[in-house]
Amino acid sequence: MPLHIRDDGVASWLVLRHQPPPAQGCPWPFVRRQAPAFSTASTIEWLTALRSAGLEFLLPEAYFARLKSRAPGQPAVNPAALLKHDIHHDFRRVVRMAEREAEAGISAVYFMMDHHELNAGFWGLDYTWRELRRIQDMGHQIGLHVDTFELILRYGDLMTGLKVFKQVFEDQGLSIIAANAHGNTKLGKRTGLRPMDFFSGLSRAAPPQPTELEQHVRRYTLGEVGKAGIHYWLDAAFMKMGPRFSATIM
Ligand SMILES: [Zn+2]
Repeated sequence: MPLHIRDDGVASWLVLRHQPPPAQGCPWPFVRRQAPAFSTASTIEWLTALRSAGLEFLLPEAYFARLKSRAPGQPAVNPAALLKHDIHHDFRRVVRMAEREAEAGISAVYFMMDHHELNAGFWGLDYTWRELRRIQDMGHQIGLHVDTFELILRYGDLMTGLKVFKQVFEDQGLSIIAANAHGNTKLGKRTGLRPMDFFSGLSRAAPPQPTELEQHVRRYTLGEVGKAGIHYWLDAAFMKMGPRFSATIM
């Protein structure tokens, strides 16, 4: 559950992956990486403390508008955060988290994958679509958690895959304007590629291993993604690089 906070031009991240909230105090900006085990309750407690301290949790459009409205170099008068969750295997926990956040006046983006070995237990069920719509109705936003490797292999073309993926969600009444990338460690290791190496201008790929994915390296652009109606690509790596990537409305 990465939390992105920009304050006075400084981008910071808190990444809670099975990690506890800070023991005391909630100064921002900051980056913490801590040891295992956080519960939904302790995370909500920590987010609520941030909210009570004046930090607003905004959805992308409002968040980036807030960033743009701030004079460069000026301190944050109304500090804001963009909170995102990547949905992998534990959907019931996601629903609980969304409910608790909504009760605390906190909005977040929940990124859901296309069908995948990680979500095979709940993908496509009526229950899942209903709960995703309910999460959206709580004031959160649903985004696409994109396994670029899988989409290319499945559809033969990343943009084709992305458009199909988006349409499936929209047909279920979900409004999709944001996406981010899933780190596929298995295929990443085998091919020597990172999830965003398929995008021109964003690839850090050394010459890739000769694989079926080789011809897709740097073949796509975020501009194409924008034309497909996905206006925010919210990856931690890009947001660290600054609003040029994170706030690009394409
Ligand atoms: Zn992921």
